[in-house]
Amino acid sequence: MNYTLTLFFAELAVALAVFGYALKRRVGHLMMGRPEKRLAGTGRRIAGFIVLVLGQKKLFKEKFGIVHFIIFWGFIIISLGTLQFVGEGLSEGFKIPLLGVNPYFYMVKDIFSVLVLAAVSAAAFRRFVIRPERLGVNLESAVILAMIAGLIITELAAGGLALAAKPDPVREMAPVYRLIASAVSPVGGINPALGQKVLWWAHVTLLLGFLAYIPYSKHMHMLAAPVNVFLKNLKPRGGQINPVDLEDEEAGEFGAGRIEAFTRKQLLDLYSCAQCGRCQDNCPAYLSGKSLSPKKLLQKMKDHLVERGDALADARRNGSGGIPDTEMIGQVVSEDEIWACTTCYSCQEQCPVMNEHVNKIVDMRRSLVLDRGDLPAEARLACRNIEKNYNPWGIGWYSRGDWAVESGAPLAGVDRPAADYLYWVGCAGSFDDRSKNIARSMVKIMKEAGVSFSVLGSEEKCCGDSARRLGNEYLFQTLAAENVELLNELGVTRIVTHCPHCFNTLKNEYPAFGGNFEVVHHTELLTGLIAQGRLKFRSDLESLRVAYHDSCYLGRYNGQYDAPRKILRSVPGVTVVEARRSREKSFCCGAGGGRMWMEEQGGRRINGMRVEQLMESGPGVVGVNCPFCLTMLEDGIKAMELETPVPALDVAEIVARSVEYTVVEIPEEEAGGEMVS
Ligand code: SF4
Ligand code: SF4
Repeated sequence: MNYTLTLFFAELAVALAVFGYALKRRVGHLMMGRPEKRLAGTGRRIAGFIVLVLGQKKLFKEKFGIVHFIIFWGFIIISLGTLQFVGEGLSEGFKIPLLGVNPYFYMVKDIFSVLVLAAVSAAAFRRFVIRPERLGVNLESAVILAMIAGLIITELAAGGLALAAKPDPVREMAPVYRLIASAVSPVGGINPALGQKVLWWAHVTLLLGFLAYIPYSKHMHMLAAPVNVFLKNLKPRGGQINPVDLEDEEAGEFGAGRIEAFTRKQLLDLYSCAQCGRCQDNCPAYLSGKSLSPKKLLQKMKDHLVERGDALADARRNGSGGIPDTEMIGQVVSEDEIWACTTCYSCQEQCPVMNEHVNKIVDMRRSLVLDRGDLPAEARLACRNIEKNYNPWGIGWYSRGDWAVESGAPLAGVDRPAADYLYWVGCAGSFDDRSKNIARSMVKIMKEAGVSFSVLGSEEKCCGDSARRLGNEYLFQTLAAENVELLNELGVTRIVTHCPHCFNTLKNEYPAFGGNFEVVHHTELLTGLIAQGRLKFRSDLESLRVAYHDSCYLGRYNGQYDAPRKILRSVPGVTVVEARRSREKSFCCGAGGGRMWMEEQGGRRINGMRVEQLMESGPGVVGVNCPFCLTMLEDGIKAMELETPVPALDVAEIVARSVEYTVVEIPEEEAGGEMVS
């Protein structure tokens, strides 16, 4: 009887049983969620997998990413060495075809073994000595790092002993084997065969222990994350908020008030999280001291999923109760956490496993708003104002076009020839006195450049961005349907807007409601006008250092970083200075996700933190591309009480005051008047 084989297969059977049991339960937890179609676009999914999993692209957003890259690839290569090593122990003369007899295979494996050992040591040093806050110190990480190191050391030591016992030209190519062999050869009293046997069993036990441990630990992400990346959201970022069928009477609930109300993909996110803390490290809510940490949010939800999933499975099996009545919202995740999010997308931008935090938060807000009617007073007021007057300020809807009449902006109407662009002004540009200047600047510029445009005046309604992100999907869908109907009735095909929230909503969310328009942000239009030479700048301008702030909804959501910079650089005298956090890593102003309408509770003010970052470069002006950012940053600058106040200006305002104007005549019939529809 071959005791080695018998014992090995017994050990393997136990490991697989332990592994399989946990995996089955985990899959059962995922299946509690609602189905979600995520398989279309296979080509793009495979490409994403290659870049993000095999290429580990997102990890390279920071220098330490190389350590994970080495561990990941080293582990794959070393696994082949492990296969060879385990196979030899089970059957003398076992060789992996082609590799097992190739000296270079042993050499490469040896080199990677050393690299992985170095990477594991660096990871351990970082986690347990440097202790960055975002990682946290936990036993699981220590166990996994020790196991990886143990696997490598036992294999290397056994290979070295084998070489010491018997010369082997194939293994001699492996530098570490050779080193160990030369170290042990002169030492008497070592029985290489026995040593190899002991190391082999230690290696096999560690390996099978590792396998069994994975689904019980946070390293479950090793199995879940590649699948999660493959199933990543392929929709444009700005259109990724989950749809809700409000007509579905069977739905029971419209938001996610229970863990099983999330989709299976949303639940897979929880198991995919590697707890690396990159999301937390870039979250304005967390960094400003609010209760929300996107990393901890997902961890808590995962623990709840495991607890509830196990309890439900046990209850099903035993046919009895015993299901914990823990409320997800309130007891697992606090309402403060849910409302603290600015939907800035910074967490998702950084997450290496493509987790989707924003959708979960919006789904939980929907549960509070649609299913419980429970939302903060200021958010409730903003929604009520939008319902009654189609703007969050609650100013009379009929006065929406007053600024346009004053500015001579032509009004659109069914009996008027369609202009090339419909200028979507948005609530801020229409009602907020400070932001009206952006709209006036745009009118001035477009007239000067001879752009054919019109505005909707009092017929325009809030686009619904804030309502949707505050969880009021009903209000959002009502506004979307009404706006789309009007735009289609007027035959609108092209829209320009200076508000990135309107831009994102019209471009990425209205298509689901039958609104298929070509939507451009004003920075795109201005870039084109400047490139075509349709705007001439004055020559008497003084030099101006502009610290440019990337808004979340133009930048991270829509990937537009270059157009605004290009415009500013075209203006004579302007120098663009980059803030410490800019482009993809830009720091939110604090207004997104409907937070514009809510008081900030606890911690530091997000706009204050952003202004400090922008002021580090000593700018003469803070440049923005969004009316919400304008308000937040102006407030932040005021709060700094600078000796020489630094103005915040929209890109259009900077252009408008730098352009050399020819005489602009406003045809009487176009100059304002009542909306005709
Ligand atoms: S979207 Fe922004 S505020 Fe919300 S959790 Fe992510 S990083 Fe934090
Ligand atoms: S959600 Fe993503 S970024 Fe955040 S801790 Fe998990 S893996 Fe890291």
